[in-house]
Amino acid sequence: MRAAARQVLRHWIEAELGNSSGVHRAARQAKAALEDARYSLASVVGCDPGEVVFTSGGTEADNLAIGGVTDAVGGRPACSAIEHHAVLDPVLHRGGIIIEVGPDGVLAPDAALAAIDENPAEISLLSVMTANNETGILQPVTDIAAAVRSRRHDLIVHTDAVQAFGWVDLVPIWETVDLMSISGHKFGGPQGVGALIVKAGTPLRAQVLGGGQERERRSGTHNVAGIAAMVAAAEEAEADREVSVARVRALRDRLVAEVTHKIDDVSVTGVIDGHHPPRLPHLAHFCFRGVESEALLFLLERKDVYAAAASSCASGAMEPSHVLMAMGHSRTDAFGSLRLSLGHQSTDADVDAAVAALIDAVARLRERG
Ligand code: PLP
Repeated sequence: MRAAARQVLRHWIEAELGNSSGVHRAARQAKAALEDARYSLASVVGCDPGEVVFTSGGTEADNLAIGGVTDAVGGRPACSAIEHHAVLDPVLHRGGIIIEVGPDGVLAPDAALAAIDENPAEISLLSVMTANNETGILQPVTDIAAAVRSRRHDLIVHTDAVQAFGWVDLVPIWETVDLMSISGHKFGGPQGVGALIVKAGTPLRAQVLGGGQERERRSGTHNVAGIAAMVAAAEEAEADREVSVARVRALRDRLVAEVTHKIDDVSVTGVIDGHHPPRLPHLAHFCFRGVESEALLFLLERKDVYAAAASSCASGAMEPSHVLMAMGHSRTDAFGSLRLSLGHQSTDADVDAAVAALIDAVARLRERG
């Protein structure tokens, strides 16, 4: 967590924190902190404060977008095959349409258009993530939104920007979509807090009913401490973004170069005929032939390198990544995948340590056969 977020969190844990929906002084103070946070987040994103709906995180924001729009306007939702399960599952739950991506992990605007043409007037919402959380590959969200709206001007577009926030300028993306999800723990805020940004006038039916908070769009007592801390992190991440992106991209590029030069039989996911699709600056994703990522993660952890294979889920079960399968990888390839993420504080020494740990772990696993 960023220091600015910790400080705000500590302040509100110690403070006399009332319920932001109440009327006494402590409640009014909580309400003021909440509205300050809403205003600050809106200026980072480039939206109106009234367009911010605070949620318990990215999963709830995605569910609110998919369920809230389809419940309000009818029709079926559609999304790309590489979405996080927080989008994919509510889309499937509503009998929605899954659109295939190319082997480079990118949803082409033409593929989105074809899906609209095959289901005329049926698709009410299209969800395309800003960047994939496993591969880091960026999606051409603004081009896709323009393409599908040229065919259906009333189509509602959602982007899951959970993985991209803090690393990508979201202002131009926000200008072209109707809804955008973010999550605090991805940019140095606390876990369990996020937001759905909803363009004024977008039809949305609440999925969590109760006290009518967030202008009847999401009920429940606000997590004021978490929200204020998340927004402190958002402001800092945005202020540092350009410098962090340049510094971390150079570290990531060195990591990729060293891994691919020093280890045999490894590929960088999404690279087709030497062409690298645009990718978030802090993520690297590989497939190692003849290595099982479960064993690799275990050996890496022993060297204090905490990595991931597919995205984290509650069961901790190792399933082949649906993202890699959608890109046409075999199950064997998918089982040898590894995602390495850098943070805004990562250093050259971290990269050296990760490369050394990886060389050692892959050699040991291949020796064992
Ligand atoms: N969407 C993406 C792209 C993610 O990477 C994640 C979490 O990793 C989520 C949604 C879910 O967000 P949260 O963990 O805040 O529920």
